[in-house]
Amino acid sequence: MRDFAKTDWVYPVLTCPVCGEGLFRADGCVKCLLRHSFDLSAKGVLNLSPAAGKRHGDDPGMVAARRRFLSAGHYAPLAQALAGEVARRLPGSPVILDAGCGEGYYTAAVARALPSARLIGLDLSSEAVKCCASREEAREGRIFPLVAGVYRLPLRDGAVDGVISTFSPFAGDEFLRVLKPGGTLFRAIPDRRHLFALKEILYDEPYENEVADFAIDGFDFLGAREVRTVVSLKTPSEISDLLGMTPYAYRTPPKGKERLAALSELSVGAEFILLTYRRA
Ligand SMILES: [Zn+2]
Repeated sequence: MRDFAKTDWVYPVLTCPVCGEGLFRADGCVKCLLRHSFDLSAKGVLNLSPAAGKRHGDDPGMVAARRRFLSAGHYAPLAQALAGEVARRLPGSPVILDAGCGEGYYTAAVARALPSARLIGLDLSSEAVKCCASREEAREGRIFPLVAGVYRLPLRDGAVDGVISTFSPFAGDEFLRVLKPGGTLFRAIPDRRHLFALKEILYDEPYENEVADFAIDGFDFLGAREVRTVVSLKTPSEISDLLGMTPYAYRTPPKGKERLAALSELSVGAEFILLTYRRA
């Protein structure tokens, strides 16, 4: 059982997903003034999703594949770039929402770079959030693991200093609402040729990603930075983990999957764009 008091910093930020009132902790659960009640797991995971109890999002196998791949450090340059940018833009003791945090790989990287920051690791996948809750920074109470969706955030207006969105559904209006005036948004998206060498194996006619215009309503654009790395996979299981993390896992014709399964190693360029915005 963990020391729930370590994450009491989060309750002034949260709201009841049923009625919108404030939340407080009471005897192993969380309640609002109107007595709506939500479970707090032994690992400290709070479930505020609209359909609490139902399984959403990633299945355990996918979460495990992504955790193995990310823990191997293949995307470390992105984690470092993101953590550095957050630390530079939000000095002091910010409260930051990682909206769509998955298993918390990037959340933890930011927590390490900014020891005085408090982070909410939010994802609709309870399986992924459970994984996030097991990280050291969550055990220390610096990351609060929360199951909820990004399109209806159970957070007060203007409650957070920063929002992080890495390869997750982008809910611009909600991010605007929960950010303080002048708050910062950090977004990571795939660049045109992200994982192109993988697509060349999977598809007869691979296409480049479309990169939309950087402008977002309600935000001032502060800057963009390209982050590039070469991912060297040395075993078929590492290759399969990478495929499992991508949307191509669902859309690849059987022939493409066979070509990939026949490989014993693969080098592929991973290309990201890290974007920073200020709430106007
Ligand atoms: Zn309520």
